[in-house]
Amino acid sequence: MPDGHMPIKPAPLVDRFGRTVSYLRLSVTDRCDLRCAYCMAENMTFLPKKDLLSLEELQTVAEAFIRRGVTKIRITGGEPLVRKDIGALFQGLGRHMGAGLEELTLTTNATLMTQHANQLVAAGVRRVNISLDTLNPDTFRQITRRGEFDKVMAGIDAADRAGLTIKINTVALKHQNADELPEMIKWAHRRGFDMTLIEVMPLGLTGEDRYDQYLPLFEVRDALEQRWTLSDEASAPANAGPSRYVRIEETGGRLGFITPLTNNFCAGCNRVRVTCTGRIYMCLGQDDHIDLRAALRDSADPQAALDAALDRALFAKPERHDFEITAPDERPALPRHMSTTGG
Ligand code: SAM
Ligand code: SF4
Repeated sequence: MPDGHMPIKPAPLVDRFGRTVSYLRLSVTDRCDLRCAYCMAENMTFLPKKDLLSLEELQTVAEAFIRRGVTKIRITGGEPLVRKDIGALFQGLGRHMGAGLEELTLTTNATLMTQHANQLVAAGVRRVNISLDTLNPDTFRQITRRGEFDKVMAGIDAADRAGLTIKINTVALKHQNADELPEMIKWAHRRGFDMTLIEVMPLGLTGEDRYDQYLPLFEVRDALEQRWTLSDEASAPANAGPSRYVRIEETGGRLGFITPLTNNFCAGCNRVRVTCTGRIYMCLGQDDHIDLRAALRDSADPQAALDAALDRALFAKPERHDFEITAPDERPALPRHMSTTGG
């Protein structure tokens, strides 16, 4: 390098509204071993495997984001742990921990966690979000349309034993778990897990009526306040994202609320999503996307082509989402399922 010249640091990912993107959610498959009634149709058709980016391509995409200042990557899906040889991607990305990447994590339904927990820890994963909507095995089978509750519990135990910090994600459902939420919160906090409640979002057709599922979280919070003392956390944890946290005095644990419908939290959005076919979605609630596959496969200089695609994506990041569930039998706000982009 000539004297006095510093290497050029790639520009950070800043959008038109001044928001810096530091967080990537990377979906590694659209497939899943469950069919949660708010997420997918029972007879869901999945993408042909040939349409998916290879694990090496997914790693190249993730590395392009790390170069541009992304410090946190969440692997998601579909169910990320059903992707064959997924351990290799965790290992590959884990090598960037402490060298650009500060957190590597995943969202999972935990059905396969017993096989993967130790390997994930070895790769550098420290925290995991586990989705669980009920502690009742019959309700679990109803919601997931096929899941085995005991397998998930064994998965949670395995993650805990392996030393992973667990957060439980629970979609609040008007008929299926509304009455059970206090018990679930007590269970999670007794086990030392944070828990986050999520409002159901109108993404994709599932064969069920969203209106019939949708439970606004302000109602849940009101009901919890009748029973417990909830105090807003003065400083949200670093990984809070759209979650607003309270501390519950009686359980001693932390509870988050993700309210995409009743409260818009887009002003602080720091994330983008990449699908398993290589599309960047700049907002979960909008359909604008940019395809990275051509940059990866057809360019003589994939690194430069990926960088240019990331710049285009950032420029196009919308200001906010606009979800609504106001009447029975409404069409979804977007045809895309949550399993396409990852939660
Ligand atoms: N299969 C993994 C799991 O369930 O944790 C990861 C993918 S899943 C799509 C990610 C998260 O999205 C889960 O917590 C799930 O409950 C949530 N989710 C799926 N569809 C949703 C919807 N329509 N509205 C709100 N949350 C949804
Ligand atoms: Fe599968 Fe997760 Fe969707 Fe349930 S929420 S069907 S576990 S992708």
